[in-house]
Amino acid sequence: MAGKYVVRTFGCQMNEHDSERIAGLLEADGYEQVDDEELADVVVLNTCCIRENADNRLYGTLGHLKSLKDRNPGLDIVVAGCLAQKDRDEIARRAPHVDVVMGTHNVHRATELLAEHHEHGNQVVEILEAATAEDHEMFPSALPVVRELGWAGWVTIQVGCDNSCAFCIVPAVRGPEFSRPFAEIVAEVERAAADGVTEVTLLGQNVNSYGRDLTLRLRSGEATLDAVTLAGAAWVAEDPRVRPLFGDLLRAVGTVPGIRRVRWTSPHPKDLRPETVAAMAETEAVCEHIHLPLQSGSDAVLAAMHRGYTAERYLERLAMARSAVDDLAVTTDLIVGFPGETDADHERTLEVVAEAGFDSAFTFVYSPRPGTEAAEMVDQFVDHAVSVARIESLRAVVERSSRMANEARIGRTEEVLVVGPSRKDPDRLTGRTRQNRLVHFSAPAGTGAVRAGSYVMVELTGATTTHVSGELREVLSGPAHRTRIPVTAG
Ligand code: SF4
Repeated sequence: MAGKYVVRTFGCQMNEHDSERIAGLLEADGYEQVDDEELADVVVLNTCCIRENADNRLYGTLGHLKSLKDRNPGLDIVVAGCLAQKDRDEIARRAPHVDVVMGTHNVHRATELLAEHHEHGNQVVEILEAATAEDHEMFPSALPVVRELGWAGWVTIQVGCDNSCAFCIVPAVRGPEFSRPFAEIVAEVERAAADGVTEVTLLGQNVNSYGRDLTLRLRSGEATLDAVTLAGAAWVAEDPRVRPLFGDLLRAVGTVPGIRRVRWTSPHPKDLRPETVAAMAETEAVCEHIHLPLQSGSDAVLAAMHRGYTAERYLERLAMARSAVDDLAVTTDLIVGFPGETDADHERTLEVVAEAGFDSAFTFVYSPRPGTEAAEMVDQFVDHAVSVARIESLRAVVERSSRMANEARIGRTEEVLVVGPSRKDPDRLTGRTRQNRLVHFSAPAGTGAVRAGSYVMVELTGATTTHVSGELREVLSGPAHRTRIPVTAG
C-alpha cells in the first residue's frame, strides 16, 4: 500500500542522514513525499535525545498528531531515532496512537515494520539493542536515499561509540563502535558521485577511530569478509599492519572521480593521529577544516567528563594539525557549567579557547541527560545563573577569534560551493568555502543564473563574527546533479 509521507527530523546530522534513508525506503515502496502532515498517510518522527527537552517536544508533536489521527484514522505514526531507542516503553505507553516505534539500529526495517503494522493492526515496537558485526544492513548508507541536497551526500562510516563521556547518552543509545567495511564506503561514494554528488561528509561518532574494530576482527581471525573489503588494500599491503584506517579512507574517498570536497565529523581529540592529518594535507579534495570538540579547558573538568586528554594535549594535537595542513580552519564544541565546574575551571577554559583561536564554536550550557553519569552528580550542579554568565564570557572570547579569522579572509578570492539564495536577502547567494565558512555574496548583473551546487570564485570583501561576504568573480562549474531550478537570475 502506498500513499504520502512526511519525515520530521529532530537532532544531529546522523539523524538527518537516517531520515534520508527512511524517506528512500518509503519512496522505494511507492510513497510520495509531501510537506504537510494534513496530507500525509505516514508521519515519521526521527527523534534525538541529545537536545534539551527532546521528550517534551516529541510528546507535544505527538499530541498534535493525535488530533490529526482522530480525524484521519488511516494515518500511520512512526517514532524512530535515539529517543525511541531509549524510551521505547514509555513512548508506547504515553502515546498508544503511535503505530511503530523503532530504534537506531533498525532504520533498514522501516517499511517492513509498517507492513507488519498494516497486517496485524497493532502497535509494533522493535528496538535492536546493538548492531551486529556483519549486519551490513545496519548502515543507512547502504539503503536507498532521498537526498535533501542533490550535490551533497552524507555517508555513515561508523555507528556507536566506545568512549564514555560522562555527559553523553550516545554510547547507551547507539551502542559500541562498529565500522562499515572500507570497500563498501568507497563504493557508496562512487555511486553518490555518479548521481552528481560533489561533496561528501563522512559521519561517525568518533570518525578517526574508524576501522579499529575491523582490524581487530581481522587480526583475531573472526572476520567473515576478506581483508581488502574490510580494511582496504593499503592496510593489507602494509607490514606490520598497525596503521589506523581513517587516513586511508580519506585518501580513497578523496580520489573518487567527481568528488571535489570531503568533510568529516566528528573526530575525538585523543584519537587524532599524524596519519589522519597527513592524509588531509596530501589529498586535495579533503577540505581544510576540522571540527575538534574541546568541551572544556580545565583538566579537572576534562577528567570528570572522561574525555581522555588534557588541555595541553589538545593544544599539541591542534598544533600538529595546523602545522601539517596549510590554512586549516578549526571549530569546536564547548560546555559550560558541567557539574563541579568552578570559577577557576571556567577561567582556564577562557584561556585555552583564546589560545586555540577557534574559527567558530558551538557553546552549550550543561544540561543533564537522564541515563548519563553526569546527570547523577546532582549535588555538584552549577547554579543556572552562574552558567549563563559563564557562557556569555565564553561567547565573547569565541566571537573575538571568529571575527579575527573572518576578517583575515578579506581580500582573498576563494572557491565557494553555492547552497542557494540568502535567507535574509534573496538577491544574494549563500555558500560555503572549503573551510566551511559561510559566505553571502552578490552576483553582478549579466552573470546569468547560478544554481545551487555550482562552484564559483568569490572575492571576499567583508566579515562579521558569523560570516564573510563578497562578490562573485567567476563560475567554475554548474551542478552535476539533475535540477532545473535556478536559484537566482543574474
Ligand atoms: S566521544 Fe564522547 S561525546 Fe562523542 S559520542 Fe562518544 S561518548 Fe559521546
